[in-house]
Amino acid sequence: MRRSLVVGNWKMNGSLVQNKDLVGALKQKSFPSNVEVVVCPPTVYLPQVADLVNEDSICVGAQDVSHQANGAYTGDTAAEMLKEFACQYVIVGHSERREYQRESNTTVAEKCLQALKNNITPIACVGESLEQREQGATLSVISEQIQALIERLSEDQLKSIVIAYEPIWAIGTGLTATPEQAQEVHAAIREQLADAGSSVSLLYGGSVKAANAAELFTQKDIDGALVGGASLDADDFCAIANSF
Ligand code: PEP
Repeated sequence: MRRSLVVGNWKMNGSLVQNKDLVGALKQKSFPSNVEVVVCPPTVYLPQVADLVNEDSICVGAQDVSHQANGAYTGDTAAEMLKEFACQYVIVGHSERREYQRESNTTVAEKCLQALKNNITPIACVGESLEQREQGATLSVISEQIQALIERLSEDQLKSIVIAYEPIWAIGTGLTATPEQAQEVHAAIREQLADAGSSVSLLYGGSVKAANAAELFTQKDIDGALVGGASLDADDFCAIANSF
């Protein structure tokens, strides 16, 4: 079902003490009841953060999941394992993993399937590089990434995922796509998803902050945000969630 979501990707940041402080600060905040708020700590901290959150208004997600169910995959974490730690969401195919771990569109789709089999909502990330945008290839790159999901997921499965459009050039750079640039891509994704499109929440990610969130959220196909840097500050993250 299409819902409003604000997801914090903590990336490889945090410590037992910092996590406690951050979740403590978030629990003091009030979030709009129509917005689902998710925090995604590093895997090793999932049990701690799930315990700290321990309430309905903030959900916990992971930053990655294995494309396999179990077995000889050293260093990977299975979806079934994430589920044991109250994990409701998992980010898959973040551009940092596509780049540094060479994750392909096929692997990203397989990860989505593993998550779905374990009742975890995958947040599948897509996005173009600056070079691709400058060459006018944005929509074709995104379309190829979305097509890999369409080919491997059933329509019901597609309806259960979340997609995050994250232009690579806007991640951690302070550059944000204009609301119109983001809307153009979101509309194209929704159209490509055909009948499933109206059920899928589409998030925008890339230097989202309190100052630009409200304008992004006015766009008709933007259902929320995947937030990196600003999710490490409780005031900023809360302000983004309250920008709907
Ligand atoms: C991200 O990592 O998904 C992200 C969007 O990061 P930032 O908000 O820092 O650009």
